[in-house]
Amino acid sequence: MKKNQSPIIWTNVIVFAVTGLISLLLVPYYALTHGFDAVEITATILCLGYCGMSITVGYHRLWSHKTYQAHPIVKFVLAIGGAFALQNSILHWSSDHRNHHRHVDNNDHDPYSAKKGFWFSHIGWMLREHQGSKYKNYDNCKDLQKDKIVMWQHKNYLWLTLLCNFGIPALLGWLNGNMIGMLLSAGVLRLVLSHHFTFFINSLAHIWGKQTYSDAHTARDNPILALVTYGEGYHNFHHTFEYDYRNGTKWYDFDPSKWFIKTASYLKLTWGLREAPEERIEAAKLKHRMEKTRNKILKMPNHDEVLNKLEAEYDVLLRRMNAFYKIKKRYVAIKRKKWTENVEQSDVYHQIKELQMELNDLKQRFKVQKRTFNGLSLQYN
Ligand SMILES: [Zn+2]
Ligand SMILES: [Zn+2]
Repeated sequence: MKKNQSPIIWTNVIVFAVTGLISLLLVPYYALTHGFDAVEITATILCLGYCGMSITVGYHRLWSHKTYQAHPIVKFVLAIGGAFALQNSILHWSSDHRNHHRHVDNNDHDPYSAKKGFWFSHIGWMLREHQGSKYKNYDNCKDLQKDKIVMWQHKNYLWLTLLCNFGIPALLGWLNGNMIGMLLSAGVLRLVLSHHFTFFINSLAHIWGKQTYSDAHTARDNPILALVTYGEGYHNFHHTFEYDYRNGTKWYDFDPSKWFIKTASYLKLTWGLREAPEERIEAAKLKHRMEKTRNKILKMPNHDEVLNKLEAEYDVLLRRMNAFYKIKKRYVAIKRKKWTENVEQSDVYHQIKELQMELNDLKQRFKVQKRTFNGLSLQYN
C-alpha cells in the first residue's frame, strides 16, 4: 500500500460491490431461471427514470446551479427521488458539484477531477476519504442552507434513502405478487444502472466527445452519452454556460431534463428559466474554432499568408453575426410589442414585414460566411 493513502470508506465500497455483484450475477441468473415479467421491467424503467431525472433536474440544474426556480411540490418530489438514487443529500452533492465547476480539472480541489483518470472520476473518488477535511463544510452552499426542503432531506437522509430503496421496490413487489423479482430489478439493478449512468457524466463526459465551445476544461459534448444521462451529455456546453437550464440547446438535442423543466414552466411549477443568449453561444463556438485552427496553422512553415486569410474571413464572419443578431433582437422586441401593447396593427405589421425581410437576408449572409469560414478552417483541422 502506498504511503499517505486516504482511509477507505467501507460503507461506499460495500454498497457498490454488493449491488454491483448482485446485478452482474444474481440478476442474470434470476432472469434465466424465473424471468422478469412486464410489470417488473416497466417498474424498473420508471424508477430508473425517476432517480436519474431527480439528479439531473433537481440536484444538478435546480440546486447546484440555480438555473431555474421550482414550486415546493416539485422540490419535494425531486428530493425524494434523489434519496432513492442513493447519491448523498442535495446539500452534500451540490457542495461537491460546485467545487467541481469552480476547480475543474484541478487534482487538489476538484473532488472528481478527470485529470486523475477514468476510474477515479467515475467511482474511485467515492471509495476513499480524499476530501475528508471538507466533508462537513458546506460554506459554498449557504443559499441551499436556507432551503427548507434541502435541509429536511439532509437531516433525514439516512432513513429516507433506506425507506426509498427497500420500501418502494418491496411495495411494488407486494402489489405485483412477487417480492424477490421486484427487489432484484426495480431495487438493485435499477440502483446500479442509475449510479453508473450518473457517474458517466463525471468520467466519460470529460473524456469522450467534442470540445465545441471551449478547451479551458476537459468537458466534452457527446450526444450518445446524452441518451443515458437524461441530456447531460452536452457537457462542454454545460461547463461553458453553467447557468443555462439546458444542456442541449438545439430543439433536436436529446435533453429530457430540459423538456421536463420547460413543460413544468407552462404549468407554473417552474419559473425563471435562465438561458445563455444565442449570440454568446454562437460567438463562443466560432471563437474556439478560430483559436484551434490558429494554433494548428502556427505550426506550419510560412503560415503568415494562410493565417491572414483565415483571420480576414473570421472578421467578416463576426461582423455578419453581429449584424444578424442586432436585427433579430429588434425583430423579437417588436413582435412582443405587437402582442402586449395596443398599437396600430397595420403600422406594426408593416414594420414587422420589413424587419423580417432584412433578417432573412442577414441570416443568409451569415450562413454563407459561416460555411466559407468552416470550410477553410476544416482544411487545417
Ligand atoms: Zn454542473
Ligand atoms: Zn463536469
